[in-house]
Amino acid sequence: MELLKEKILKEGRVLSDSVLKVDSFLNHQIDPLLMKEIGDEFANRYSDEVITKVLTIESSGIAPATMLGLTIGAPVVFARKRKSLTLADNLYSASVHSFTKNETNEISVSKDYLCEDDNVLIVDDFLANGEAVKGLLDIAEQAGAHVIGVGIVIEKGFQQGGQQLREQGIRIESLANIKSLTNGKVEFFD
Ligand code: 5GP
Repeated sequence: MELLKEKILKEGRVLSDSVLKVDSFLNHQIDPLLMKEIGDEFANRYSDEVITKVLTIESSGIAPATMLGLTIGAPVVFARKRKSLTLADNLYSASVHSFTKNETNEISVSKDYLCEDDNVLIVDDFLANGEAVKGLLDIAEQAGAHVIGVGIVIEKGFQQGGQQLREQGIRIESLANIKSLTNGKVEFFD
C-alpha cells in the first residue's frame, strides 16, 4: 500500500536493526484518515470472504481493526492483556510473549463475543515473530470459530512470524512488508 509505505519512510524512526517506531500515526498518535484507508484496503483484499468478526489485541491493533469493522459493518473484538474485575471468568485465554516489551502477557477474550458461528479476520499493527497472531489464533480455535486470515499493517518480513504462519496455510495480507532496517534505513519487499 503506497500511501502507508510513504508514511513509514517519512515518519518512521528506526530504533535498531529490528525495531521500527511509528508513534506519529499508529502506536501513540493515530492518523484517522490513513487508518480509514487501511481499513478499506483490508476490506478490499478480503472482499471474497464474509467476515462476521474482526479480532485484534489491545492497544495498537484497535484503530486499524475498527476501521475495517466500520467498512464491512462487522463488530470488532480486542483481546485484553490484563484481567479486569469486569472480565474475571467466562474467558478464552492464551499466553503471548511481547517482542518489544520482552514480557509474557496472558491475553483474554470473553466467551460472550466469539463463538463457533464466527468467521474471523485477525488484525494487528505489526507482525514480527508471530506471537501475537498465534495467541489470537489459539483464542479463535478455543471458540471453535473459523479464521479466514490475518491482516497486518506492517510486517517485518526479515523476522520469522510471517513465514511460519504461511507455512501453516494461514492467509496473511500485510500492507507494507519490510525487508530490512539495517543502517537506520527502511527497505521494503516489492
Ligand atoms: P510478534 O508477536 O509478531 O512477535 O510481534 C508483534 C507485536 O509486537 C505487535 O503487536 C506490535 O505491537 C509489537 N511489535 C513488534 N515489532 C514491532 C516494531 O518494530 N515496532 C513496533 N512499534 N511494534 C512492534
